[in-house]
Amino acid sequence: MLRSLCPESARRSEGTGSLQDCVACKYQRRKCAPNCSLAPYFPADRQKDFLDAQKLFGVSNIKKILKNVKQRKKETAMKTSISQANTRAIHPVQGCCNVIRELDSYIHLYKAELDFALRQIAICGAQALQNEIQKLGFDNQEVEVGMTETQED
Ligand SMILES: [Zn+2]
Repeated sequence: MLRSLCPESARRSEGTGSLQDCVACKYQRRKCAPNCSLAPYFPADRQKDFLDAQKLFGVSNIKKILKNVKQRKKETAMKTSISQANTRAIHPVQGCCNVIRELDSYIHLYKAELDFALRQIAICGAQALQNEIQKLGFDNQEVEVGMTETQED
């Protein structure tokens, strides 16, 4: 779902090794500087990601996000922002809420399946125990009588 952001390798064009302008700078009709803060996250081949993010957040807000986040969390912040923007492009009204609701319904479905499977295991375990008791020559009444006698003592 989330693609890995590989800043420098994605920025270099195949074969020539020269740096390409990032989509953000190309969109703003500016020359992409070597220290462009958006270049690692919006290389030339990620136009849709940029357009979605630009539509949802705006370029200045994307830059604010990058400015206000610690260096080690920048990639995660941008992956999250891009994912949120891509999802909003697919589901214009509900955005990520639609995905969250869908995943939540899967959790309920699989939890119900797990509960059913655990009940089946418990039933099979009880039947296996019953079979073992019968193999050993006891029947239910002897076991129950034996238990009743022990309880009276
Ligand atoms: Zn740039």
